[in-house]
Amino acid sequence: MPKVGNNAKEITKGLFLNEDPEKLFTDLREIGHGSFGAVYFARKASTKEVFALKKMVVTGKQAEERFEDIKKEVKILKCLKHDNIVKFECCYLRDHVVWLAMEYCLGSAFDILEVHKKSLQEDEIRAICAGALNALVYLHFELGAIHRDVKAGNVLLAVGGVVKLADFGSASLVNRASSFIGTPYWMAPEVITSMDEMLYDCKADVWSLGITCIELAEKKPPLFHMNSMAAMYHIAQSDSPKLCEARSKWSEGFNGFVESCLIKDATNRPTSKELLNDPFISDRRDSDSVVLMQLIERTKEAVRQLDQHYRMRKILINDH
Ligand code: ATP
Ligand code: MG
Ligand code: MG
Repeated sequence: MPKVGNNAKEITKGLFLNEDPEKLFTDLREIGHGSFGAVYFARKASTKEVFALKKMVVTGKQAEERFEDIKKEVKILKCLKHDNIVKFECCYLRDHVVWLAMEYCLGSAFDILEVHKKSLQEDEIRAICAGALNALVYLHFELGAIHRDVKAGNVLLAVGGVVKLADFGSASLVNRASSFIGTPYWMAPEVITSMDEMLYDCKADVWSLGITCIELAEKKPPLFHMNSMAAMYHIAQSDSPKLCEARSKWSEGFNGFVESCLIKDATNRPTSKELLNDPFISDRRDSDSVVLMQLIERTKEAVRQLDQHYRMRKILINDH
């Protein structure tokens, strides 16, 4: 794994606060679950401001390695400043638990799919994609970083219809990488084959964005019915996936955009910056936040109709 920074002590210094977040924050409610812990809605007692708290426990067998990964995630998020990236607030370390406080969002694009149980509309997909693409251009071209885990579950929506890229737990601050990181179904072919020979770069995120488009259009990424090893074999060996109901349901522009993201040979695949000029993205940008605010409203309405105990009530948590 590429090393970030020179010295672990230097990173820790100033990275964590030592106060007790369980005293500073009230009203904690679980809103998400990742591979290593939960994410909570929380209110700062002193100001009543709302935040998301990602709780990461650092104990057990590989605690040291895990702590290095967490420090990397926090350090990366802390240096990112962009409207389409979830905003870092502060981070606490108490009794082997790291609490990452960040801007609160309503939920991920994946959560929204789960509420509606059907694919999103093309306008909505375009708006989500455009926001994520802005974040990627910033990451790739201003910081030389790679996200390495672009998927609907890591693309959040905030009040006002703003897209926020989140979860920098897999990100790399170097723009060429060789480690085998990400979530299998969204992985670019060159990330899979880099296991034995070559390096990959930020175009791996462009591939994952194309897969995310298919996920939003079809509720699942391609090959999701297979186990992850078989899926990775197919990603590396088979032709690129396409939108299923390509001609009947989706515009030519959308088909073309997905096709560009999913050009198998990374050298021929456009960069995130080039994709900003793809007509699918550039033609109707003015309406993006309106489209997303309507999506949020229609999602809230759908959640209100859901069973009282259904976990998606998190989307309404801060509504009074
Ligand atoms: P993964 O298994 O994808 O690596 P993870 O453990 O790294 O997950 P995140 O992806 O950061 O965790 O967060 C898990 C979920 O928590 C997200 O999919 C989302 O639903 C929710 N979540 C994360 N951050 C926020 C936030 N700032 N505001 C609202 N919800 C959030
Ligand atoms: Mg995640
Ligand atoms: Mg993660």
